[in-house]
Amino acid sequence: MRFCYRCGISEEEGGPLIDGLCQVCFRRENPILLLEPEKNTELCQNCGSYKKGGVWVDPQNYELPALIFEVAENTLIESLEECLVRVKDFEIVGWEDIEEREPPVGRALVAFRPVDWHVDYFPAIIIYEVRAKARIHELQVEPHDETRRVTVYVRQTVCPRCQRFLAGYYEAILQVRVEGREFTKEEREEITRLVQAKVDEIMKRDRMGFIQDTIEKEEGIDFYMGSTSSARKLAQAIRERFGGTISEAYELVGLDRQTSKEIYRTSVTIRLPKFRKGDVVGDKHGRVYVVERVDGKGLKLRNLEDWSEEHRDWRTVKRDGIDLVEHEERKALLMNLTPKEAQFMDMQTYETFEIERPKMELEEGRVYRLIRVRGRYYVGFMGVSE
Ligand SMILES: [Zn+2]
Ligand SMILES: [Zn+2]
Repeated sequence: MRFCYRCGISEEEGGPLIDGLCQVCFRRENPILLLEPEKNTELCQNCGSYKKGGVWVDPQNYELPALIFEVAENTLIESLEECLVRVKDFEIVGWEDIEEREPPVGRALVAFRPVDWHVDYFPAIIIYEVRAKARIHELQVEPHDETRRVTVYVRQTVCPRCQRFLAGYYEAILQVRVEGREFTKEEREEITRLVQAKVDEIMKRDRMGFIQDTIEKEEGIDFYMGSTSSARKLAQAIRERFGGTISEAYELVGLDRQTSKEIYRTSVTIRLPKFRKGDVVGDKHGRVYVVERVDGKGLKLRNLEDWSEEHRDWRTVKRDGIDLVEHEERKALLMNLTPKEAQFMDMQTYETFEIERPKMELEEGRVYRLIRVRGRYYVGFMGVSE
């Protein structure tokens, strides 16, 4: 007959023995929930971020007190990860469910609930009740079932990102410019909207990707960016949508006092193409087109000879010498078609005039965009240039 070496109970009564201990003494000698009674944690008073696994992360909740509970819970779960050393892993279950559930060997079931708190001022305090059930040995008849209380203090701080942001820090400048023409108000607004949407996306992964400042200049817009990679990603996003070319320049701004390394600031410049939707362009063969779309790949053109659609990538645009052509325009109503001629009425002057009948099918009674290049009239759609 064997006996528990701790309390002396026989194996028959208190067994089976595990490492010489009865069931009760085995559980008492090997507690699973070694939680510290008090825990301290911080959240950024500026952006609500907090440290998770040693890195600053953005919260799921921005509203107090949900944010405070999120931060405190994260600290509680992290301390569970540290303290549940006698099991391989653990599963968090609802407070109501843990009673019913039986833990398999090596896996703890943990439930917690806040039992008392104040979250109206800092430091916020939340007291949690934590219950854990586990079997850490195959011979265990009853599982461990332990309950502890933990007080989590949540304090305010300023995260490193916000410290830099508040100090006016920036790492790169994104310069948006246009190639040889005016930068329109609509384009500026469209680009600013695109940049803001993209920054929101970038900030999910790159917390330094913030816009420190936006400066409108006559020649374009300067975005002062918290990170160079963010500036590059934005330039790419703009190019994808509007086309253009990206270049980078570096400026020596000083020496790091500690490492005496040179510190450079990057300027990422995106130059938007000269062409815009609705522009009238020509190529070196004398063909005339209306630009229907401009994007990162190239141009979609409408050939004014027969209204056929043509795509040109940027290299071909260059090779074919596509450029703006001098022209005059008038809106005109198609009055009458004869086999050889088309008769139009100018919508502003009501003057009527005839041109050689073009190849395309035209509808009498419709208004067209008449484009005169080198003395010849071309018929375009309305709408493309508006
Ligand atoms: Zn015992
Ligand atoms: Zn912050």
